[in-house]
Amino acid sequence: MKCQDAEKYIMKYMDGEISKQEAEQLNEHIQHCPGCKRDFEFYDAMVELFEEMPLYEAPADFEMQVMLQIQTLEEGKQYCHIKNRIWGHIWGTFTVLFGTGAILAFYKEEIMASLAQQPYFDRWLSGLGPIEATIAQQGEALQAMTENVSLWTDKILVNSGGILLMLLSIACGIQYMLLKRKKETDKVRHR
Ligand SMILES: [Zn+2]
Repeated sequence: MKCQDAEKYIMKYMDGEISKQEAEQLNEHIQHCPGCKRDFEFYDAMVELFEEMPLYEAPADFEMQVMLQIQTLEEGKQYCHIKNRIWGHIWGTFTVLFGTGAILAFYKEEIMASLAQQPYFDRWLSGLGPIEATIAQQGEALQAMTENVSLWTDKILVNSGGILLMLLSIACGIQYMLLKRKKETDKVRHR
């Protein structure tokens, strides 16, 4: 027997998996090989030491405690997930709202003009009856206002509102994208 085989047999002996025949071969080898004898005695002493050591049993509720902790962690993750989803909806909605507001502020006249040209909108307006006149008056007033160069300040004010809405829309859009990306990375991490 080679020392390499003896080493394998020693491991088998440690695991209690050695056969009687193998044990005899190992015994014969260590009688003539001081190196393997020393190894065998060392491991044998280790096994004895472990067997003498008192067994420390985990407390009865150890498993339950671990499961509880895992559950708490999972719930926290779940809560975080739902929270992110809600915030995602909120930021998404605000992005659209502010964006629409900005577009309306910038292209108010154009939108009003194109709406007035729509036959359905026209009919809807006429369906409003007495209010129609008021709206028509206001439309004329609006036209007069935009045509009047002296009222440029109003236009600038409206546009600055539009710019503010646009910036808010962009800010919400960024928040939305960040949350979405965080959700993606979380998904990858939990995979
Ligand atoms: Zn040997």
